[in-house]
Amino acid sequence: MNGTIPLGRFAGVPVRAHPSALIMVVGFTVMLAVDTLPSLTVASTPAYWLTAGIFGVLFVGSLLAHEFAHAALARRLGIPVESVTLWMFGGATALGYDPPTPGKAAGIAGIGPAVNGGLGVVSYVLAAGLGPDWLSGLPTAGLLVLTVFNLLLAVLNLLPGAPLDGGRLLQAWLWHRSGDRARATATTAVIGQGLGGGLIGFGTVLLVNQNILDGFWLLMLGSFILAAASAERAAPPRARVPDVPVGQVMTVNPIIAPAWWTVEEFIGHLINHGFPYRLFPVRDEQGAPVGMVTRGDLFGIEPSLRRTVHVRDITHPLDSRFLARPDEPLAAVIRRTPLRPAQDTVIVIDDRGPIGVLTATDVRRTSTTAA
Ligand SMILES: [Zn+2]
Repeated sequence: MNGTIPLGRFAGVPVRAHPSALIMVVGFTVMLAVDTLPSLTVASTPAYWLTAGIFGVLFVGSLLAHEFAHAALARRLGIPVESVTLWMFGGATALGYDPPTPGKAAGIAGIGPAVNGGLGVVSYVLAAGLGPDWLSGLPTAGLLVLTVFNLLLAVLNLLPGAPLDGGRLLQAWLWHRSGDRARATATTAVIGQGLGGGLIGFGTVLLVNQNILDGFWLLMLGSFILAAASAERAAPPRARVPDVPVGQVMTVNPIIAPAWWTVEEFIGHLINHGFPYRLFPVRDEQGAPVGMVTRGDLFGIEPSLRRTVHVRDITHPLDSRFLARPDEPLAAVIRRTPLRPAQDTVIVIDDRGPIGVLTATDVRRTSTTAA
């Protein structure tokens, strides 16, 4: 997401916010203070605003709990987390690469909505415990709103189309059943497009019926889901991939990270080359491949530490999903890693070491020359 503002780091993960997050938080707080709370209980205006402010913070906390659940589990499963970003429709967690198995993908996707379900139950139990009379009912009313909000967040995120968590769960299940990740991705992307289109239609109906706020919000949400799902579909479909070996398509002489360089040196080198891809092989002094590093790993190091941390300190072991041999058929590689534009990179390696990389750009170039 462009134009985000760094808010700091939590548990080592950079937290960022898009300016639109402010609109969402302020909108929620104002709605609570002037509409929702007054409709639930009688109190003074300052009391409404104080309660709305407190629950506005808890609202952001619920969004962050959802994202950090994704991030914490991903990290536990060995997948690097690049950032957590808050924006108009909640949050987004960027992983260094996609989960390697359907089980891990399902776990990481499912835990976000599960946390909101849990928070919904906890705030409901607290509200029930306080009872309606407590402080003229304002804390109770706030907790009930928080309950509804968390349950809504869980349900919305479980809608079964990419890029929502429900879409990721469906994708993991299809992938598990067929063993074909690329097809599972394409299927959930199509459902996501349908979902986005449906929300746009529903939002338009509300707008026509003078329900401006809800209509506009649904229209925006639908547009976002439609765009994100379409981007997932833009990954080259296997059927159209030419029947050629990887070595014929790859970009040769890839950028290789020397393990003994500092993070600052290597980022400087990448700036000179315009960051051509996201994943880089790492080699030792003898030229042997020792692992791989992602762009997110590099930028995950705080600027003040980039002079002292070396590439080898943040190198991951080579993951077979991101490796290919030059004589391997292109279609077989894409089956393993969908090669989404500007997302996935495969390192091509032979007995001498890394000899090339493969991205969506390479495949697209071949597809157009072949057509
Ligand atoms: Zn989520």
